[in-house]
Amino acid sequence: MEPIRLELPTDLGVGPVNAYLFTQPEVVLVDAGIKTDACWEALVDGLAAHGLAPADVARVVITHTHVDHYGLAGRLVAESDATVWVSELGAPWLSAADDKWRERLVYYRDDFLRHLGLPAEMVAKLLGDMTRLTTLVDPVPAERIVPFHLDGVLQMGGAAWQVVHTPGHASMQTVFHQPQTRQLLSADMLLAVTPTPVVEQPPPGAGRRVPALPLFVRSLDVVEALDAAMVYPGHGRPFGDPRRVINRQRERIAQRRGECLEFVRAGLERVPALLDAMYAHQPPATRLAGLWMLIGYLDLLIEDGLVTQEEQDDVWHYLAA
Ligand SMILES: [Zn+2]
Repeated sequence: MEPIRLELPTDLGVGPVNAYLFTQPEVVLVDAGIKTDACWEALVDGLAAHGLAPADVARVVITHTHVDHYGLAGRLVAESDATVWVSELGAPWLSAADDKWRERLVYYRDDFLRHLGLPAEMVAKLLGDMTRLTTLVDPVPAERIVPFHLDGVLQMGGAAWQVVHTPGHASMQTVFHQPQTRQLLSADMLLAVTPTPVVEQPPPGAGRRVPALPLFVRSLDVVEALDAAMVYPGHGRPFGDPRRVINRQRERIAQRRGECLEFVRAGLERVPALLDAMYAHQPPATRLAGLWMLIGYLDLLIEDGLVTQEEQDDVWHYLAA
């Protein structure tokens, strides 16, 4: 059975987000939009187009706990008997959404952003955007959450889908692969455009954050090895031939990593200067959106031993090794 795509509007920079619907043998919804009235109405309309209402949903399966993918899970649960399935890594983001988002906000405010040397108004904008994100999700009662293993199997649409953990865009990112039909629900791991790795707070007990883009690059290898024929992404239209998309993304990342290295070698040491150089083709007001990829390229260069990060007066400086 082919997953039915429901395209749902968001007012975030990412544009619309997809949820996927299986109508048989029970109604399963993969991902659940963002918590806005417009998104809820689109979801209700999308279900109605297949003769269904929110109360008919038996299971909601979450690919990763970003607000555009699970914001409406709480409302769906309130209006149905549905359970919400999410990886064991993602479960705390459903049951204790407020705590988890506050933790991340504090990490950004008191640690990560403080070291970048960005102008105060940029920092305020980033923190403001992030604070708004925390309002775009309803928590899910713990008794309605069913955590699945990172290498588990999910029954959807009358078939067994293998869970594959693919960290990078998000540390708890999972994709679902159906080997017989070679279908892949790729969430934000594999989009037609390069998904942005998200800077996350260090995991409990770890002192340092986990570099996300190096993880993402390794996850591209994992996804390629699945040898899927058809990809159902978290944003945009389904597409075939994932290898072509994967190779294009690898080339793009390698090219930008190389350009970043050249700028560091030319003496640009700090994030604001590197951001201006790497995104010189964009107007200054929108360059901030490139921050996550820039941090990712620097993470790759540090991992490869080509750049070192040194703290001077509380601000990170990047130097050619
Ligand atoms: Zn997304």
